Amino acid sequence: MTPEAPALILPEKSRSIGNDLRRKLGADKVKDDFPTITAYSVDASIYKVVPKAVVQAETEEDIAATVAYAMSSGVPITPRAAGTNLTGSAVGEGIILECGRMNRILELNVEERWVRVQPGLNLTEFNKKLEPHGLMFGPDPSSRDMCKLGGMLSNNSAGPHTLRYGSVKDNVHAIRAHLAGGAWLTAEALADGDPATDALLKSHPALGETVALVRKHADLIRSKKPNVSKNSTGYNLFGLVDGLDQGIVDLPKLFVGSEGTLGVISEATLKLVERPQTTATALIHFRHLEEVGQAVFDLLPLTPMALEVMDANTLNLINRSAHGVPADAAATLLAEFDGGGTDFKSVPIREILDRVRAICRKYRLCEDPTVAVEKEHQEQLWKARNALYPTLYRYDAKKKPINYVDDVVVPADRIAELVQYLSAFFKGQDVNVAIFGHIGNGNAHIVPLLDVNDKRDFEAMVAGYHEIHQAVVTRFKGSICGEHGDGRVRAEFVRKYFGEELYALFTQVKSAFDPARVLNPGVKISDTPFTENIDYVRLSKPCATCGKCNSVCPVFDVFQTEDMSSRGWFEIVTAPGYEYLNSKRVVEACVNCKSCRTICPAGVDVSDLIMQKRAEHPNKLAGSIFAWQGQPWLFEPFIKLMGRTQGLWDRPLPRKVLEGALAPLLHRLASTARLPADMVLPRLASRLLRERYAPLTEEAGHRGPVAYFHGCAANYFQDGVGDAVIAVLRKNGIEPVLPRQKCSGTPIETYGHVERVKDCARFNVESLFRYDTIVTGCASCTLSLKDSPKWFEGEERKRAEAVAGKVRHISEYLAGEGLKSAPTRPCRKTVTYHSSCHLRAAGVSKPPRDLLKRIPGVTFVEMRDADRCAGGAGTFCVKDYDTSQKIFERKRAAIRDSGAQVVATSCPACMIQLKNGLRGEADVRHIAELLLEAYE
Ligand SMILES: Cc1cc2nc3c(=O)[nH]c(=O)nc-3n(C[C@H](O)[C@H](O)[C@H](O)COP(=O)(O)OP(=O)(O)OC[C@H]3O[C@@H](n4cnc5c(N)ncnc54)[C@H](O)[C@@H]3O)c2cc1C
Ligand code: SF4
Ligand code: SF4
Repeated sequence: MTPEAPALILPEKSRSIGNDLRRKLGADKVKDDFPTITAYSVDASIYKVVPKAVVQAETEEDIAATVAYAMSSGVPITPRAAGTNLTGSAVGEGIILECGRMNRILELNVEERWVRVQPGLNLTEFNKKLEPHGLMFGPDPSSRDMCKLGGMLSNNSAGPHTLRYGSVKDNVHAIRAHLAGGAWLTAEALADGDPATDALLKSHPALGETVALVRKHADLIRSKKPNVSKNSTGYNLFGLVDGLDQGIVDLPKLFVGSEGTLGVISEATLKLVERPQTTATALIHFRHLEEVGQAVFDLLPLTPMALEVMDANTLNLINRSAHGVPADAAATLLAEFDGGGTDFKSVPIREILDRVRAICRKYRLCEDPTVAVEKEHQEQLWKARNALYPTLYRYDAKKKPINYVDDVVVPADRIAELVQYLSAFFKGQDVNVAIFGHIGNGNAHIVPLLDVNDKRDFEAMVAGYHEIHQAVVTRFKGSICGEHGDGRVRAEFVRKYFGEELYALFTQVKSAFDPARVLNPGVKISDTPFTENIDYVRLSKPCATCGKCNSVCPVFDVFQTEDMSSRGWFEIVTAPGYEYLNSKRVVEACVNCKSCRTICPAGVDVSDLIMQKRAEHPNKLAGSIFAWQGQPWLFEPFIKLMGRTQGLWDRPLPRKVLEGALAPLLHRLASTARLPADMVLPRLASRLLRERYAPLTEEAGHRGPVAYFHGCAANYFQDGVGDAVIAVLRKNGIEPVLPRQKCSGTPIETYGHVERVKDCARFNVESLFRYDTIVTGCASCTLSLKDSPKWFEGEERKRAEAVAGKVRHISEYLAGEGLKSAPTRPCRKTVTYHSSCHLRAAGVSKPPRDLLKRIPGVTFVEMRDADRCAGGAGTFCVKDYDTSQKIFERKRAAIRDSGAQVVATSCPACMIQLKNGLRGEADVRHIAELLLEAYE
């Protein structure tokens, strides 16, 4: 069999793959329905390959059983972690073996600084767990919020801090992998010649064969070793030779960077590094690109942790002015330094920064370097860099950033020359290109913007692929890949890069470990042209498939699978075969928290797409309820009756009866819907807010410049929010008007009744237009009103925009212009803040925190995961109570760990979820309630 030949999938076999695997592993671990195979048909590369089935492994036994099945049936298998690789290495035509649920830390040794982990652990989550011990994992790809350790190990990933900590291969003690032959191997660095080493090599023939090959061809391998600071192309036989030269059989080197083509990793033992105590980031804008190279050499003796560059074109493409980059900057350098750690105790960070400033004075800069020492400020400086690739998706509707020469490495002193060569090359092709990367390592990311559906652009891509890679190899003596891996995109060039002799060794290694070619065929060792399997349809869509939204999607957090994730949903609902009925289970699973929209660097709103799909199939029961609610004379008496009698029915026994009685009805909302007897419900109002404050209503003739849009929750629930907002406004000299209003629309949109949402929005715009300021107390109302222009065109849209521009959440209003008299009564409590998703989506994140810090006596503590959804999401906590509670688990842990006595929030709907979830563990208060206490 030729090295590149994919395993054969017989049609009759392919139909039964899912069924066969279900019989072996159980139904809940194997999926092959339309949404699943669609979501798993892409990663962050330019490719699409639709699998036959997806296995979500939870144990080593699952891995072993899947590999055994693949071997016996000849079906290819592609291991997968987070699917953020840029090379097409996590998509495959057979079985996707996803290890995302194997995501635990198995053992941590703080003294010796090592950890044993599973491959499904996300890097940022991992580092958060290590933080209390003052430790972290050194290599840090910019995709750190999304990527998982299995993928990092298999790609030999690196990142900005590789300059200090090296690539993944430099930070691994051991790997446990399942081999195609059915054996488990613990690959460690072993003493060469030791009887135990010999016994291991004997018991794993593939390993023995590989080590023998490496010994035999050591000179050839040495002669072909890339002479650059990092390399992730080919198999790392160079690492094995280096080890043997020192008397070590360094087995992890073989598996790190092997891209799932030699075995499936189930565990790894990793080295940890001390977390730097103080760090500082400097942002330096150069007027002349050619000076950057020399500046880097001047800065290197200060042992920076990271040195990152972005060229002028990159800065233009991401809209330099939006990021505060001067118009005349030819390149921007980001440099990070640490001080106070063990290794650098003697040089305090201040002194390092003085030296940086002194070095910078030698160069023609656009302005003095910006220096950040505060974590928040540093994150701000890094934000554009970390999200560079998906941000480029915003630039043009057709021309998209295409990764095909994305990861070259040259000697670090030739990077300026490389950038000049590339700029001239792409100018010659009339192609816009972004060039950025880890300049300290000589590693450049080159991302041209092309419309691959256009013949001219396609040809430019093919020509550029060969010419640039060739120039990197021959002219610059560099490597075609520093950290992203070969995947499908570079496989074609691996042979050309290393030459026939060394490539033959690679194929022999592959054959030794995977004679049947079931492990990730088409990846790394393959002659298939890189243009095969390009996803032309997707490359004209706005989503970069970067997976960043998955990192904040609460549903993904619970399920850890691509078919239950924001990125997956984008793929599913925009796929040609999408139908509501074949994808209902996923379309109805989104909680509409909008976190994906808030974070997406490419400006995609997945939640909005999902709402559009739901609008094609509005829920009938919800429609009837909203129609009823639209008749206040019918609906409000019911609420008041329920409010007056709550003491009678809101008890364990009647609630149990109610739960049973409502079940068939709620089933029509969703198969998962229920109102559990023990769920803590909000107090319903026996007198509605508008009745309690009748003199403030528009109907009573009250007039003024400030309106309070209370929304449904504050009107129907007697939870103190509406009263507090009014009282706090009064304390600040404002007698708000309660304008005529209808539901702001969020819950109605969630169930697909778009026409009703538009009616409500139209009513509200007309009612609110006359006010100077519209204050809200609810996160969802705030977002709905600010978003209302999206429903209209022309004149109506202009009026909606005028209204949207006047909407202020109470926290935003008071933290800005509204706070006339400061609260004085001390509130001696530790308070944390749960940041409601819809308020964050409305751009209001800092004001509530600022306001809480201004309450005398309050000790404000920022909780971990403050910006994550709590799972309530309006009525989602009824629509899918169990998932909603699973989402809440993370919030509960964060609140507990914060040690706060009070959880403040900005939204009555979040309060329901927090009160039900916490059951008195901490006090839950609306920010207006806390303020009011401090006034009284
Ligand atoms: C915006 C963005 C920025 C990025 N920045 C960087 C960067 O700075 N540095 C960098 O190195 N990369 C970067 N990448 C690429 C990518 O994120 C990294 O390579 C990452 O480590 C891949 O991890 P993953 O969990 O997504 O792996 P996946 O994409 O799921 O898989 C990657 C490879 O690992 C294999 N694999 C996964 N799990 C296993 C297992 N259990 N056993 C065997 N093989 C397995 C897969 O088969 C595949 O070959 C970036 C990507 C994006 C989208
Ligand atoms: S929607 Fe945005 S964040 Fe999510 S994968 Fe697409 S580009 Fe990335
Ligand atoms: S709205 Fe929330 S739940 Fe829905 S896709 Fe976006 S992040 Fe996920």
